[in-house]
Order: sequence, then structure tokens, then C-alpha cells
Amino acid sequence: LFFSFMGLNFLGCKKESDQSVKLSASQKTYKWKMVTTWPPHFPVLGEGADKLAKWVDQMSNGRLKITVFGGGELVPPLGVFDAVSSGTVEMGHGASYYWAGKVPAAQFFASVPFGLNAQSMNAWLYSGGGLKLWEEIYKPFNLKPFPAGNTGVQMGGWFNKEISSLDDLKGLKMRMPGLGGKVLAKAGGTPILVAGGEIYTNLDRGVIDATEWVGPFHDLKMGFYKAAKYYYYPGWHEPGTTLELMINTKAWGKLPPDLQAIVEAATYKANMWMISEFEAKNNANLQTLVEKHKVKLRKFPDSVIDGLKKLSTQVLEEMASKDPTSKKVYESFKKFKKNISAWNDMSESPYQNIIMK
Ligand code: CA
Repeated sequence: LFFSFMGLNFLGCKKESDQSVKLSASQKTYKWKMVTTWPPHFPVLGEGADKLAKWVDQMSNGRLKITVFGGGELVPPLGVFDAVSSGTVEMGHGASYYWAGKVPAAQFFASVPFGLNAQSMNAWLYSGGGLKLWEEIYKPFNLKPFPAGNTGVQMGGWFNKEISSLDDLKGLKMRMPGLGGKVLAKAGGTPILVAGGEIYTNLDRGVIDATEWVGPFHDLKMGFYKAAKYYYYPGWHEPGTTLELMINTKAWGKLPPDLQAIVEAATYKANMWMISEFEAKNNANLQTLVEKHKVKLRKFPDSVIDGLKKLSTQVLEEMASKDPTSKKVYESFKKFKKNISAWNDMSESPYQNIIMK
């Protein structure tokens, strides 16, 4: 009787002390920094990063405080990857195609020319194995990626001349990141990677002849209509660009599981919030561009689109043949695209045709 009483008492104490350890761990406050590729508080994209930090603060009852820095405030816009990878900061927000020079395969997780739209990108990433591959590829860099925003189908870009044939892209210096830039190079153009905050000045001064950015809602805010007349669609190069939140894996490992779950939930919310902002506001802003600012809206001719589509396949095949990691991701992407296209032929496509009538 004595022993079992002691045992009970001992167990009781142990339980109690476990609980108090747990409580004190859950009360620990974490102060993190997030660097971004966007100018400070940049509409939608930077705002989304700000909101993500706010949501985490709210959901964690102030236990995880994230201070957001715009591009250039702590590190340069395109220095985000290295800053998070090295552990200088805990988090970064941007787009994975900015890191093509370091990790070519990363580009698949932002956008692929003639690839997946936002809905299909989410399906591939969350439920089709895409995010697992992304995690695998970022792991050697001490990074854990999350989808955290999407632009939807982008516009084709701003030009100072009409694009009537593929030849019109020859010699064109155009701001275009990622795989789209590689396709432009194949067409004889010169892709230039410029961070968002510097595009307008470059276009205005003639450092670049043309630029793509996002879509009407954001492009109007960027003021590109003051520097270029022709606004082309569709954005063949970015049919649904996923934005990313990357977290240093060591910092991630130190977070208790509930805070990890909160951060993950906030990335889902950011992913949904950004696409909703763009989709809801694009058309009204397009009308402002056309009616108020007299922008000339143009559709790329079929011959240009067909040519770019062929060149895109070449770019992807070449990339896969040179880099085993890219090949692995490309295979997954290609297979998923084939399957979802077959489904879309019976769902999204016929539905779009009906509502267009
Ligand atoms: Ca873009």
C-alpha cells in the first residue's frame, strides 16, 4: 500500500512538473526578422508579408513577433535567399525564381511558362507532391519553403512598340525573371532581372526597352503607363506565380509545434489573401489604364504565342537534360500538368466557354 501510494504520488509530481515545463515553454516569446524582395509595405506583395507577420502575432497571442523589412532595409532585395540561408535572419518573403542562379530547379515553384495557373499550382504543391520536392531542394540551403501568395495569370508586359512577330522580340532588353527570361533569350531578346522597386526608373531611362510585372492592379500602381504605351496579354511566362515564405531550418527547429502550425496556417492565409486581392481588383484597374491613361491594350498574335510555346518546351527540356534536380522536378510538374489538363478539359475549360458566351 505504501509503495503504491508513493508511486501514485511520484507519478502525480512528475505529471505536474511536466506540465509546468510545457507551460513555461509555451510562454516563451520569439522575436524574428523577415526580409523581403519587395520595397517596404509594397502593395499586395509587401502588404501580404506584413499581414502574415500580424496574423502570426495574433494567432500566437504575441509569442512569435516578426519584424518585416522591405528590400534594402536590412539586406538588398535579391539578398533574401542568402540572408535566410545563413541564418542572419529567420524568414524571407519573395519568389523562388529569383534564385535561379543558385538553384535552377527552384524556378518551377514560382512559375513555368505555359505552365500551371494559380489553382493548379496550389494543387500540385499542396496535394500533388510539389511542396515535398521544394522542401527537399531547399534543405541543403538550410531553408524550409512555404507557398505564401499567388499573382494569378499575369499580363504579358509593357512595350514601346507593337509585337507582331517573334522577330520583334529580337534585341529587346526586357525585365523578365525566371524561365520566361530564358525563353525570351531563345527568341533573341535580352532578359534582365531587376527587383520590383527599380523597374520603373530603368524603363523610363531606357536601360530596358520593355518590362513585365504582374497585372493591371499592381502595374497601375507602378506607373509603367508613363514609360510604355503598349500593354500586352496574356502573361504566357507567368500563368500563376507562387510567392514564397522561406524559413531558416535551425530557427524553425527551435519553434514549438504549436507555433510551427501557426506559421504554416498564416502562409495558407497569405496565399489566399494575395490572389483574392489581385483577382478582385485587376479589371477595374485595367479599365483605368485603358480609359484614363490611354494605354493601348494588345493581345499577342497567335504566331508569337505558338513560337514562344515551342521555345518554352525547348528551355525546359534543355534545363532537365543539364541538371538532374531540375529533371526530377520537371518530371513531376509535367506529369501533374498532363493529369490536371485532362481534368480541366472537363471542368474549368468548358465552364469558361459557357460563361464567356
Ligand atoms: Ca511577373
